[in-house]
Amino acid sequence: MQTQIKEGFQTFKSIFIGMGITLRHFFQPSVTIQYPEVRDVLPAGARSKLFVNIDDCIGCNLCARACPVNCIDIETVKATADIDLGKTSTGNPKRLWVTQFDIDMSKCMYCDLCVHPCPTNCIYMVQEYEYSEFDRKNLIFKFSDLTPDKVIEVKEKLVKETEEKNREKELAQQKKDQEKEKDAGKTGE
Ligand code: SF4
Ligand code: SF4
Repeated sequence: MQTQIKEGFQTFKSIFIGMGITLRHFFQPSVTIQYPEVRDVLPAGARSKLFVNIDDCIGCNLCARACPVNCIDIETVKATADIDLGKTSTGNPKRLWVTQFDIDMSKCMYCDLCVHPCPTNCIYMVQEYEYSEFDRKNLIFKFSDLTPDKVIEVKEKLVKETEEKNREKELAQQKKDQEKEKDAGKTGE
């Protein structure tokens, strides 16, 4: 009998505590919003989506190296001597064409580790969170602004320049060898 009274008391106590909480929230302002008609402002520092200001990217690869899940894919091509790529807004000289800069947001874990090493502050999180997709492939965001034709052009130019430099080096070496042979011939006379 005593146990039943105790249990009954506990039940009523739980009901009153629960009702008390409900009543307290009943008189407080609502925390829900009518999304998508109403959108809340995200807190400062919220991590939602990565963005790259490609004009300021020097292709140093530091962000990709910092990424623990390898979701940043960068390809660069050295600019040939006749091209001046200028400077970033932070004053860093640009020497590489960024022919590919892909971020796979389906793999990203929003750790922000790629953001901090960037010397030109050109990779950062933006307050955009409505980018869900049915196909994961659509979550690979491409930031390089070079056309496929331009990429081929800059690659071919670099190959040509490298070949020319190698040829010049070879010729210089041949000249040196010939001069050495000449000198050796003179001393032998
Ligand atoms: S936020 Fe983290 S996981 Fe996402 S790209 Fe940057 S380093 Fe990689
Ligand atoms: S760290 Fe910054 S400058 Fe370097 S490759 Fe990444 S985004 Fe570009």
